[in-house]
Amino acid sequence: MSHSYRSTRSSAKETQSFENTIIQGLASDGGLFIPSEIPQVDAKTLEKWSSLSFQDLALEIMKLYISSEEIPEADLKELVQRSYSTFRSSEVTPLAKNVSGNGEHLHVLELYHGPTYAFKDVALQFVGNLFEYFLQRANKDLPQEKRKKITVVGATSGDTGSAAIYGMRGKKDVSVFILYPTGRISPIQEEQMTTVPDKNVQTLSVKGTFDNCQDIVKAIFGDVEFNKKHNVGAVNSINWARILAQMTYYFYAYFQAIKGAQSKVKFVVPSGNFGDILAGYYAKKMGLPVERLVIATNSNDILDRFMKTGIYERSDDVAATLSPAMDILVSSNFERLLWYLARDVLAAGDDQKAGEILNQWFVQLKTEGKFVVDPAVIERALTDFDSERVSDPETKETIKEMYRSSQNPKNYILDPHTAVGVCATKRQMAKDNDNSIQYISLSTAHPAKFADAVNDALSECEGYSFEKDVLPEELKKLSTLEKKLKFVEKADVGLVKQTIEEELVKMGLF
Ligand SMILES: *Cc1c(COP(=O)(O)O)cnc(C)c1O
Repeated sequence: MSHSYRSTRSSAKETQSFENTIIQGLASDGGLFIPSEIPQVDAKTLEKWSSLSFQDLALEIMKLYISSEEIPEADLKELVQRSYSTFRSSEVTPLAKNVSGNGEHLHVLELYHGPTYAFKDVALQFVGNLFEYFLQRANKDLPQEKRKKITVVGATSGDTGSAAIYGMRGKKDVSVFILYPTGRISPIQEEQMTTVPDKNVQTLSVKGTFDNCQDIVKAIFGDVEFNKKHNVGAVNSINWARILAQMTYYFYAYFQAIKGAQSKVKFVVPSGNFGDILAGYYAKKMGLPVERLVIATNSNDILDRFMKTGIYERSDDVAATLSPAMDILVSSNFERLLWYLARDVLAAGDDQKAGEILNQWFVQLKTEGKFVVDPAVIERALTDFDSERVSDPETKETIKEMYRSSQNPKNYILDPHTAVGVCATKRQMAKDNDNSIQYISLSTAHPAKFADAVNDALSECEGYSFEKDVLPEELKKLSTLEKKLKFVEKADVGLVKQTIEEELVKMGLF
């Protein structure tokens, strides 16, 4: 059982509770929180788990990471039920089996049936309820002015913002402020974020770039005084609760793909910040017999380059691709994997020593823009992972090819992020040439969210219509709803802080 958490950069023995880990987000030494032990699941338990619903499975997994003294089982069960009641599919994350037909075992794991049509909902619906739960408990009998609050502040170029807003909307004592660059996100994403009427939600349209927004958010997190006053909370992908919530679908999809047979399974995951695939790594380390986890990157390929060379090096510029949610320079959650590799390969299993090594690597990354690891580290990584890099033309071609040739159902439409994964899956199939392997390709967004890329790929296809074939009724309606946003005339930290405080007063939270 692993109910306590340590930092990836700490050389001390000290650990944190689950609650602190979640509320704090990042460790005070700049490292990420990891469980002090990875709980093990034996074959008999896996057998029992194989027939559970998504919700019951989530509960069993979470119980291994959260002590019942921190959250009693009945409460955790209720949190899980509530978090997934907002999904449009009763299975939460259904598996589209054998989509391509022609005897290929290519299954698409649809993670986009949550409120914002993107995989981030799986985690953020849970995180919002968790924040509210911790606050309610702390605030039980306190008068209004003494109540503890969380002010979630984030910057978005797309998916994270809307998923965070839908996760936090209406939660008591929680407010959420999402900054985005005016005119630089897709219309549907802007509509999703700005049409949420809840009083505790405020979008800030900032005159500037996404980097300006992100810099402002970083400055706010670093502002000790503002933090003390408002208890600023992060919901970005390094939050441990997000990784934890994502483990469920690896188990769930695995059981559905093999259906009791003895099969090898590979997961292929379109990756940016390495949060999604990291949950698969934990599932594998817990005992789920996964053959390999395949990292699929777009041309922002720091992960693919690392797996091939052992050099972790940030590029100078981020490339704008068709899969923008994966346009990153460094991959924040990769630090967690690096910790396990350092501990097992270089530190002979010593946790404290691993913390020291990580510290050195990340100091080097900061000062020199890169670090290099021993070939033995890559060798070890390759026992769990493989990697593929997919270009924009290949992404488009994959959307088209799947639309033209899919059998179950016909004309299956991929979003560009999912297409990066499916292209990588096809390459793996060709390399493996092994019909006994089941490939589970993770689908991270509904195609309606990335209209331009999808239309670009499919416009020549006969009979194709975005309105008819892609756009769900619920998203069509968004354009008719009233928008609630606040313009921030200058990309300036002081101005944003002032705006947040003014809005908090209106929300009755300050
Ligand atoms: C966030 C996101 C990803 C990347 O997930 P990571 O956890 O950052 O690797 C991929 N696709 C979509 C649609 C996303 O929103």
